[in-house]
Amino acid sequence: MTSDPILAIRGLGKTYPARANTPATTALDGVDLEIRRGEIFALLGPNGAGKTTLIGAVCGLVRPGSGTIHAFGLDMARDWRAARARIGLVPQELSVDMFEPVLLSVSHSRGLFGLAPDPARIEQILRALSLWDKRGARIGELSGGMKRRVLIAKALAHDPALLFLDEPTAGVDVELRRDMWQLIGQLRDQGVTIVLTTHYIEEAEEMADRVGVIHRGKLIVVEEKAALMARLGRTEVRVGLAE
Ligand code: ATP
Repeated sequence: MTSDPILAIRGLGKTYPARANTPATTALDGVDLEIRRGEIFALLGPNGAGKTTLIGAVCGLVRPGSGTIHAFGLDMARDWRAARARIGLVPQELSVDMFEPVLLSVSHSRGLFGLAPDPARIEQILRALSLWDKRGARIGELSGGMKRRVLIAKALAHDPALLFLDEPTAGVDVELRRDMWQLIGQLRDQGVTIVLTTHYIEEAEEMADRVGVIHRGKLIVVEEKAALMARLGRTEVRVGLAE
């Protein structure tokens, strides 16, 4: 692991404007965060804390109101395409065409980044995710866990150096959760830097090298896992997580 951050976020802010019956919401409030090359970073926080908005801002799905984002040393406001092509995103929602066959869907994903489909790489990914035998199946025919694997395969198809997983284990059973943890560990061993979001402190404990706690749009703690675990007895962190 080298010391230069793979991702540097400074003063990131986002306020969603008021709509009919909803007041304006500040989802991110001056977030500073550096992600180190090669680490697994867990972003922990309750519903509505701002986790998905933070990931969306880095991946170009949400336009930040303020702040800067540098990935791989590139300013994402200027060199967005080059930086984004090296970032994988496994979204929380199943944002896939349910009628599309698995193999086609994963191959398309590579094309989105201007890369030619690489059959050998796609096969390798599908085999690693136990999806090869399902490659001809329509995504809608698969179980929830398999659908989630398809999202991961799509994110890996363009060979990202930095991978975001937004609540990869939300709503999955214990067995699949363990599989997912194992897979994330393998990806890290292959050199992929990983940022995952979770509601579960035990997941952060199991997986992460460092943990950040976000609450009401503010990053209130960023610590090595061991230090955070020691801190968890302290009231203010508990209050933040319980709300
Ligand atoms: P969860 O764990 O429930 O997925 P989260 O930590 O990912 O939550 P966000 O989805 O980033 O949180 O939401 C942060 C805040 O911004 C919430 O109050 C949410 O209601 C609000 N929000 C998110 N997306 C939008 C949007 N498109 N328009 C308006 N408000 C939004």
